[in-house]
Amino acid sequence: SVSSGGDKTRINKSLTSDNKLLFYMNFSETLAMALANMRLRESLQHQAIRDPLTGLFNRRYLHETLRRELKRVARAEEPLSIVSIDIDHFKRFNDTHGHDAGDEVLRSVSEILQGRTRAEDIACRLGGEEFALVYPGMPAEVAIGRVESILKEVEAHEIYHLGKKLEPVTLSAGIAVFPSHAADTDALLHAADQALYQSKKAGRNQSTLADLPQQQAA
Ligand code: GH3
Ligand code: MG
Ligand code: MG
Repeated sequence: SVSSGGDKTRINKSLTSDNKLLFYMNFSETLAMALANMRLRESLQHQAIRDPLTGLFNRRYLHETLRRELKRVARAEEPLSIVSIDIDHFKRFNDTHGHDAGDEVLRSVSEILQGRTRAEDIACRLGGEEFALVYPGMPAEVAIGRVESILKEVEAHEIYHLGKKLEPVTLSAGIAVFPSHAADTDALLHAADQALYQSKKAGRNQSTLADLPQQQAA
């Protein structure tokens, strides 16, 4: 009976380690599945809010977030600056150097814009060669300085395509500030667009601060 007891112990021991093995296999499988799920969800979320070419936020994300940010800064009695940006003569650039070179420009401009925004700001590609930057808490004077430096950096940026150095591109920009220029998202974006249009008319490669609305200007 002593020897059978010893056998039992041996059997129990090996059963226990089999169970452990099964447990760990199960556990790691579950963990792997959970991680895969998490990655899938993250990548779907990324696709829903990011522009695939540049990695910047997309238009839908801008609209959703801007609405929320405006409520937040209004409560905190802080300003919010929004910048509307458009690449100058981009059609000509595409026609001269090809669509791939154009895409290269979109990516490098986006990188510069991304570099000039913090995590709490929004750098967004609205579509085509049009962008928007949102700076919660930033007053007009600071926004003007920030945009000036972005315009200089883009103009100085050297663009290479297929080993050839291409001519620099420039940006035009319009700035509108909450609450001075407008109180809601659509009106604020419109004011920034109007200012951008002024920059185009005045010769491009420059930024314009939106005009104050009539009742405040008086
Ligand atoms: P302006 O200085 O007045 O802004 O002139 P523009 O040529 O930039 O303006 P326009 O709106 O006439 O042309 C925009 C061009 O942008 C049209 C198209 O050739 C180019 N474009 C739009 N989306 C993309 C894109 O995803 N990739 C590339 N490579 N080009 C694009
Ligand atoms: Mg355009
Ligand atoms: Mg353009």
